[in-house]
Amino acid sequence: MRIAIVSLFPEMFSSISDYGITRRAMENGLVELNFWNPRQFTSDKHQTVDDRPYGGGPGMVMMIQPLRDAIQAAKAWAGEEAKVIYLSPQGRVLTQPGVQELATEANLVLVAGRYEGIDERLIELEVDAEWSIGDYVLSGGELAAMVLIDAVTRLIPGALGHAQSAEQDSFSDGLLDCPHYTRPDVYEGRAVPDVLMSGNHERIRRWRLQQALDRTVRRRPDLLEKLELNEEQQKLLSE
Ligand code: SAM
Repeated sequence: MRIAIVSLFPEMFSSISDYGITRRAMENGLVELNFWNPRQFTSDKHQTVDDRPYGGGPGMVMMIQPLRDAIQAAKAWAGEEAKVIYLSPQGRVLTQPGVQELATEANLVLVAGRYEGIDERLIELEVDAEWSIGDYVLSGGELAAMVLIDAVTRLIPGALGHAQSAEQDSFSDGLLDCPHYTRPDVYEGRAVPDVLMSGNHERIRRWRLQQALDRTVRRRPDLLEKLELNEEQQKLLSE
């Protein structure tokens, strides 16, 4: 997947290109990042990318022209079919089903805003979708873009060491994940549940499902309301 990023601070993205699963996915050619800085599309000596808002008020607004030129250059690299996404607190809130949808896109152009945001006409002209990473306001779209890229990368076949890991993660089947343990068997008097040492894969599978259901009921009952439980899940829930 090609991901073109339009940002005033491309250096921030080393947090994902230099570490962990996202770094490996990039090294293996599963994800390719490239950057366009609107400052490089300015024509004045100060490389101005923002201006005062019409109507007055605090803060500045990102100007249309340098940002639009940067988006179009990014699109030329990512391909005409690439979706242009503006990271915005006013967008659709990113959840795992949304991440799954985005992971099916061939290529993406991610636009990170700064200041009070971008000129509304640019959204009308160039943006296909707005996505938010939650109901709070960040100083810029870079962190939100990195969250989106990380979550999408995990779903690209070959990105995770174990293909099943993503399927077992919280939200992928609508439930929270079960608890996990590793050595030692007992720590400060707290023992790992016997079932996990039993070697009985069917019992372990059922225990994990039971735990996932219990956790979801206790911590996120709202998730269960949206789910159609299968017969086994209904039975375990009523036990
Ligand atoms: N005035 C804007 C508003 O209230 O809708 C907020 C602007 S914010 C200070 C600057 C930039 O950060 C935005 O243009 C957007 O790109 C990004 N941003 C802030 N919060 C975000 C969120 N929850 N999800 C995605 N992007 C966000």
